[in-house]
Amino acid sequence: MVVQNDPVDIVTIGGGMTASILAALILPSTSHTMVSLEQGAARWTYPDFAHNHDSLRFNNRYELMQDLNQVSWTWRPNENAPALPMRQYGSFNPGQGLGGSMVHWTALTWRFLPSDFAYRTHHIERYGADKIPDEMTVQDWPFSYLDLERHYDALEYDMGVSGQAGNLNGRILEGGNPFEGPRQRPYPNPPLAQSAFGNLFHEAVQGLGLHPFPTPSGILSQGYTDPFGNVRAGCLYCGFCTRYGCEVGAKTSPLTTWLPPALDTGRYEVRTRSHVIGIETDDDGRATGVRYVNADGNEFFQPAELVITSAYTLENIRNLLLSRSKAHPDGVGNDRGRVGRNYTYQLAQNPASGLWENERFNFYMGNGCTIPQVFDYNADNFDHSDVDFIGGARMYPSAGQREPISSAQNLLEGLTDRRWGAEWKQTLGSSWDSVGSIGIEGESPAYEGNFCDLDPRFTDAWGLPLLRITFDWRENERNMYRFLANRSEEMIKAMGADRTTVTRQLAPYRYDVYQSTHATGGCIMGTDPGNSVTNGYGQVWDTPNVFVTGAALFPQNPGANPSGTVGALAYRAAEAIRDRYFKAPGELLT
Ligand SMILES: Cc1cc2nc3c(=O)[nH]c(=O)nc-3n(C[C@H](O)[C@H](O)[C@H](O)COP(=O)(O)OP(=O)(O)OC[C@H]3O[C@@H](n4cnc5c(N)ncnc54)[C@H](O)[C@@H]3O)c2cc1C
Ligand code: SF4
Repeated sequence: MVVQNDPVDIVTIGGGMTASILAALILPSTSHTMVSLEQGAARWTYPDFAHNHDSLRFNNRYELMQDLNQVSWTWRPNENAPALPMRQYGSFNPGQGLGGSMVHWTALTWRFLPSDFAYRTHHIERYGADKIPDEMTVQDWPFSYLDLERHYDALEYDMGVSGQAGNLNGRILEGGNPFEGPRQRPYPNPPLAQSAFGNLFHEAVQGLGLHPFPTPSGILSQGYTDPFGNVRAGCLYCGFCTRYGCEVGAKTSPLTTWLPPALDTGRYEVRTRSHVIGIETDDDGRATGVRYVNADGNEFFQPAELVITSAYTLENIRNLLLSRSKAHPDGVGNDRGRVGRNYTYQLAQNPASGLWENERFNFYMGNGCTIPQVFDYNADNFDHSDVDFIGGARMYPSAGQREPISSAQNLLEGLTDRRWGAEWKQTLGSSWDSVGSIGIEGESPAYEGNFCDLDPRFTDAWGLPLLRITFDWRENERNMYRFLANRSEEMIKAMGADRTTVTRQLAPYRYDVYQSTHATGGCIMGTDPGNSVTNGYGQVWDTPNVFVTGAALFPQNPGANPSGTVGALAYRAAEAIRDRYFKAPGELLT
């Protein structure tokens, strides 16, 4: 029997970053009611993350991640290969539980560059149409950087982002990112302290004529009271950050920032341990609510005027595809077969490493944001006329938080060929804190042959098809990687390493090796239902009382982490829903 719940105005699938932003921005100034159905458990900074420096539990056993025994994803490199499920965490680590992935994120908080938003047009105007390979399906975003600027600004102040502005209202400021788009205000907090290895990188790349600047970070460099009134502590540089919840709330997450004001309204509920299994639609194709199963296996129907899928990229795609009905036989949003298209990822690699024989860098402390970055080889910040690719990457030195267990294999290639025994232990002891790398976080353009659909063979714990990912790198990324590997080598040599190794060729994509939790696309936004799933607010073209949030909306992935833009898009959608949608529910916003 399916239990019918009382209707609410808004239901979200998932209780993570974007769901909590919507709740905090829509509810306080309206009388709406909202429920977020979250498959994981509730948890809070205190007591759940007090004394949580347990590497085995959080880093190796992935305690905060989505349970792969219930839902996983299959992958194949191309349409002719068999697809197999992820049985142990590899390529990405989506979160589960109150607050979602952001509870255990690294917190680099970027704005995308103005040219990222006009991607196709920009490249054609500067280099001609032939520069974009035929199979590449990159698109412009449906609005410009300047349209999103005030949402980036509001997000950064609510999060208390720590950083150094590079472009204040068009004025380029020393020490910041000179390539960033104009911002109306400086960051609300100064940059985090920089690591020893970061300082070495900074000096060396400056000597190469590049423009290093501190990482903009969703981690507080000092105590901060945000515009909602949340009072938060600064970072302790404890070294147990990515894949851990922050014990003092210095790392921004829904728990520190958006959930308190939303819950204070008394009109918001996060119903935990509630796994959504589909969006229901009526004969006219309009969404009526969602079906979900609780921890006891009981099934419920939650009616709502507005359904928002906020379940992270992969499950957002799957939620739409699973929601098949007479009105939408191929799933909600998929009347034109666009759901799953433009699936992209992030080219995250470490092309060059070095050993500094008599140096100790204290890699065990800090966090992923205590380092500088360079954007000189990102996007179209350098001339691509004479190179055989488009795109680029942000580049950076190894960060803090070198995990004691998983990093034990992280020796420089060639130091020893053993992975066990006395010689290996001796080499590990003498080099663990003296080896560092140059990392790249590169663009992932969209291609016709990279996409997601429902797996015909593998199912989840409720018997529903898993999402099947068809994805691999292409010639453009291999060429881009070779170029960036050479730049990485120049950097590591300028840093004075005693020994270096460089990986010069990009290997095929691997599902079993962690690269980043930056899966993007699949429900992309656009100006036309013929080439996108949603409009510029994340509102689904063929079912306008369904919205999608998160990086599934990106037409392709730029060379930086997604969540600054994921957050800004959620701010934009929240404003449109709050101020305009409910005046004419179900109509497309323009
Ligand atoms: C290890 C790690 C490091 C990261 N570092 C960075 C970084 O430094 N910078 C950056 O920009 N980004 C980073 N990210 C990415 C960032 O965390 C995400 O972009 C962001 O959290 C996405 O927000 P979201 O609302 O789309 O999804 P989430 O915050 O993940 O929320 C989705 C929620 O939906 C729930 N859910 C899924 N399916 C269902 C269902 N069927 N029913 C009910 N609930 C469901 C999940 O349990 C989850 O809680 C990182 C992510 C990870 C995992
Ligand atoms: S390094 Fe700082 S932000 Fe990260 S978990 Fe530790 S105290 Fe929190």
